[in-house]
Amino acid sequence: MSAPGTPENPLRVAIVGSGPAGFYTAEHLLKREDMAVEVDMFDRLPTPYGLVRAGVAPDHPKIKSVIRMYEKTATREGFRFFGNVDVGAEVTVADLSEHYHAVIYAYGTATDRHLGIPGEDLRGSHAATEFVNWYNAHPDFADREFDLSCNRVVVIGNGNVAADVARMLALTRAELDETDTADHAIPLLADSGVEEIVVLGRRGPAQAAFTNPEVRELGEMLDADIIIERGEVELDEVSRAYVDSEDCEPTNRRNVEIFTGFAEREPEGKRRRIVLRFLRSPVEIRGDGRVESVVVGRNRLERGADGRVRAVDTGEREEIECGLVLRSIGYKGTGLDGLPFDEAGGVIPNDHGRVVEPDSGQQVPGQYVVGWIKRGPSGVIGTNKKDAQDTVDALLADVAEGRIPEPGIDPDTPGREADEVSGIEALLEERAPDFVSFDAWREIDRAEVARGEPQGRPRVKFTTLEEMLEAAKAVPAE
Ligand code: NAP
Repeated sequence: MSAPGTPENPLRVAIVGSGPAGFYTAEHLLKREDMAVEVDMFDRLPTPYGLVRAGVAPDHPKIKSVIRMYEKTATREGFRFFGNVDVGAEVTVADLSEHYHAVIYAYGTATDRHLGIPGEDLRGSHAATEFVNWYNAHPDFADREFDLSCNRVVVIGNGNVAADVARMLALTRAELDETDTADHAIPLLADSGVEEIVVLGRRGPAQAAFTNPEVRELGEMLDADIIIERGEVELDEVSRAYVDSEDCEPTNRRNVEIFTGFAEREPEGKRRRIVLRFLRSPVEIRGDGRVESVVVGRNRLERGADGRVRAVDTGEREEIECGLVLRSIGYKGTGLDGLPFDEAGGVIPNDHGRVVEPDSGQQVPGQYVVGWIKRGPSGVIGTNKKDAQDTVDALLADVAEGRIPEPGIDPDTPGREADEVSGIEALLEERAPDFVSFDAWREIDRAEVARGEPQGRPRVKFTTLEEMLEAAKAVPAE
């Protein structure tokens, strides 16, 4: 058989996950004019686009416009989408290896990191990611309940997810009504009893992970004041030296300037308040059966031997009463049966996207990773473009150097040839017969957009698999 990539033997690639990393990878592969490539993309949900659909805040519609690029990729010859297929359960890693020259795992980071403090699991203490999935109508989270009758919410973490949830808690009904926020979430958010959203950063204003536009937005809320006590933005020695140095990231320096500007403002008496506190770590979440308060420790900063500025507990404590805690301290990846996994890092061990055995560092032939499950949960959507190129370059180098096994030839089953292996559709018909093609997804999309139109909203999302699959049925038979 000729090397993969020729018209007789196109390079057959499976991509598991249809978020930005998966789509940029598909684009890098399918745009190549010097080789024949076929890409089958799998997703556990009937809907594509991963965090662009279920992560990006509904009041950030511009960020979601990247979907247009992904739609273009989906129209490229050689692209197929198989939604509503659970890789790991309905289709295994071994199944995919049997059907494709290469499998690229792009399934992101499904869980959250834990604080490891007492009371973390009390009722009313949630991972921010749960809340994000809920207001974004992710079908697995539609029936979650958040007590928004409370007066104060504490958000833990200083990243953009923390900024997103703080903003979502502070939007007015009119602002929410223009978005694709889940229908079940709009009235609860708009009419909530929440008056104060306290956002806790364990380090200082110069170390916050927010990006500048996200910080600025917190000060531009229609009906929420931004509150920072002046003392909170006074830089300690370590931070002052950092901000004044050439090593300072422009984002960090600008953040400090914006925070300082906020600290100089007088509150306007708006309905809600977003309060930013720095150098504060939660040490315990208290309550009788449900969250009633967070005990917070005050930190000082210290530069470690590795150069990283760390938060060190001073022993000073205060207690903040609240009815809801959203822990926004980062996502974490989970492993997949049949693939190596680095538990501590929450990623699949890899070398420029080539999956490797953690102990020996030896490459696992035909297996690749991209996106957050490759490098951890960092960066913005566009970061995945370059990351995808890196993985595709590794894969194509392996193709060129003959390191890609021919699919279907199982070394443990001598004599079994590639053409004896039936196509992936036959396997899916057996294991996941309700799989959703890209055309079927377009029907779901059309139906959601049509539901939103009379309300002047971009779409009204379906919140259950049943509704999605019903809408998908409208796809004309081939
Ligand atoms: P992130 O940016 O990594 O922020 C995590 C935050 O949690 C940091 O402030 C971190 O503080 C803090 N933290 C970690 N462990 C902690 C602990 N034990 N106690 C207290 N605080 C702790 O993560 P993210 O907010 O989940 O966002 C993930 C990625 O998605 C980021 O790259 C983000 O920029 C991106 N994103 C972008 C947008 C957007 O562009 N609008 C929106 C959402 C998300 P330390 O710095 O001290 O570790």
